[in-house]
Amino acid sequence: MRCIFCRHQNTDVIETRVQEDGNAIRRRRECPACRKRFTTYERVEDIPILVIKRDGRRERFDMGKLRNGIIKAVGKTTVTAEQVDGIVSDVYSKLLGDAKQEIKSEDIGAMVAQQLKTIDKVAYIRFSSVFRRFVDVEEFEKELKKLL
Ligand SMILES: [Zn+2]
Repeated sequence: MRCIFCRHQNTDVIETRVQEDGNAIRRRRECPACRKRFTTYERVEDIPILVIKRDGRRERFDMGKLRNGIIKAVGKTTVTAEQVDGIVSDVYSKLLGDAKQEIKSEDIGAMVAQQLKTIDKVAYIRFSSVFRRFVDVEEFEKELKKLL
């Protein structure tokens, strides 16, 4: 994203947070050229994405819900709230990037699991055992064996 002050080509994201209402991502940005900072918001309302649940029902994608689900699943691990927000916003950006209007809840779970794996193995295992259906069973067992 272009700097709003000096029009420099790109800016660095220094912080990413999911808003309280779960409908927006707030990004704190810094321009590498003029060092000024500003904040941008991405809102879910702009492009509604539907999540297809396992029973076939469809539900509007809700970042707040996803965030709470991850926090609940990872429990007391080294994963911070900021890292969870990072995962949620990454998933959301991917959904927007794919320009698909619908996504299966399993696919979202798999995206989250992949990211947790690189952050904290224990959190990955916890998330995967809560949402076991979301991950490749063989891969899950391999990871579990490595830990035990
Ligand atoms: Zn600038």
